[in-house]
Amino acid sequence: PAKTMDELVSLCKRRGFIFQGSEIYGGMQGAYDYGPLGIELKNNLKAAWWRAMVYDRDDVEGLDAAIIQNKYVYKYSGHEDTFTDPMVDCHECKSRLRADHMKDIKVCDNCGSTNVTEPRDFNLMFKTNVGPMVNEESYTYLRPETAQGIFTNFKNVVDSTSRALPFGIAQIGKSFRNEITPRNFIFRVREFEQMELEFFCKPGEDEKWHQTWVDLRTQWWLDQGLEKENIEFEHVTGDDLAHYSKATVDILYKFPHGFEELEGIANRTDYDLGSHTKAQEEFGLSAKVKPNAHSTTKLAVRDLEENKMVVPFCIEPSAGLDRGLLAVLTEAYTEEELENGSSRTVLKLKPHLAPIKVAVLPLKKNKPEIVEAAKGIKNRLQKLGLGRILYENTGNVGKGYRRHDEVGTPICITVDFDTIEQEGAPVTVRHRDTMEQEVVNTADLPSFILNYFVN
Ligand code: ATP
Repeated sequence: PAKTMDELVSLCKRRGFIFQGSEIYGGMQGAYDYGPLGIELKNNLKAAWWRAMVYDRDDVEGLDAAIIQNKYVYKYSGHEDTFTDPMVDCHECKSRLRADHMKDIKVCDNCGSTNVTEPRDFNLMFKTNVGPMVNEESYTYLRPETAQGIFTNFKNVVDSTSRALPFGIAQIGKSFRNEITPRNFIFRVREFEQMELEFFCKPGEDEKWHQTWVDLRTQWWLDQGLEKENIEFEHVTGDDLAHYSKATVDILYKFPHGFEELEGIANRTDYDLGSHTKAQEEFGLSAKVKPNAHSTTKLAVRDLEENKMVVPFCIEPSAGLDRGLLAVLTEAYTEEELENGSSRTVLKLKPHLAPIKVAVLPLKKNKPEIVEAAKGIKNRLQKLGLGRILYENTGNVGKGYRRHDEVGTPICITVDFDTIEQEGAPVTVRHRDTMEQEVVNTADLPSFILNYFVN
């Protein structure tokens, strides 16, 4: 794994994974842009999540709700009142610090001065004006989590899919938080993506489902290549436990800057649906909610055994896509000493996450038959639908191997004189991790590649 953030930042920029946002204007703190390979890696990680959460199960539906929502969503969700971090001002260097877990911060992170204010609450939501009029009513917020769109669509999903408990709704999308101190590359940013599941169950079955989801989510991260020894769990307690949460387990990963939260799995009880439902008093809610004067819809389902309407409990595994990508990159980053005394950098990404699945390299740049054969192979493999297959004609296969090691391409195929001259049109298949090469006939390539990537 990577030892420092700097080596990751440098690889990401050099090879086109991640760039500083607005770089040509001096940058924008807490915003990063994903480059040609970053977007592939991100899409692959999202697809793996969606596959595991939606396609591989038959009790979860997908959703893509709007980022801009009615301001009442945030009034009743509790975000307007309580989505804050404690902030401290330094009188000396004028910087602002996020106090967070160390609420009694006494020394400025930035200049070391002890001349700092008492912590005060800072709301992390970005406020924005909607429409051409600017007045006291015309505001809303950019969503600070994707979850609220799931709760507000609860009835729509139930009615359109005829779901009964237990079932879940999954969503991937952008969230925005005006973090006081964004830092550590893409670990803490102001605009990021979340992959969230809200899993609804009967009260009383919530603790069992909470544990189930902690286990399933941990296994999923292992399947993305994270090593067990680099994962820890934190049972959130006391002041750090959100007011709506009965229990929260954070999955921590050993990032270059230390063990930090990768995903939180919370038992949110009936707080969310109970907050947004009409006729709150009918349901005997267990959570303490703000009286709702604006909701038009009851967010409840029929409990067939007891033949009454209940507001379900909700288990929420909430993962950061950007943090996930940083974890996967950290884990995959490898510096290797080779037998001949040289060294190489290799990204040992799981094949399903690799931004480029296969690179097809003609040995000779200017030999039309070789170039044609290579293009034909690229086109045939691209049709398999595995992701990006790259035809790359630089004429320097050795350099190509090194570059593809660095960006994690699991397989390189070299097309040479044998391919155009010999029966079966053999090509050389070179494996990233072992650097071993084998000869495969062109006609066998599609099934060879499919076998490799689909398991
Ligand atoms: P932290 O304590 O690190 O601020 P949090 O507990 O506020 O995180 P949640 O509200 O539980 O985070 O959000 C769920 C997930 O969303 C987090 O586990 C993380 O992966 C991701 N996430 C939250 N805030 C950010 C951010 N500012 N930048 C990148 N990812 C984030």
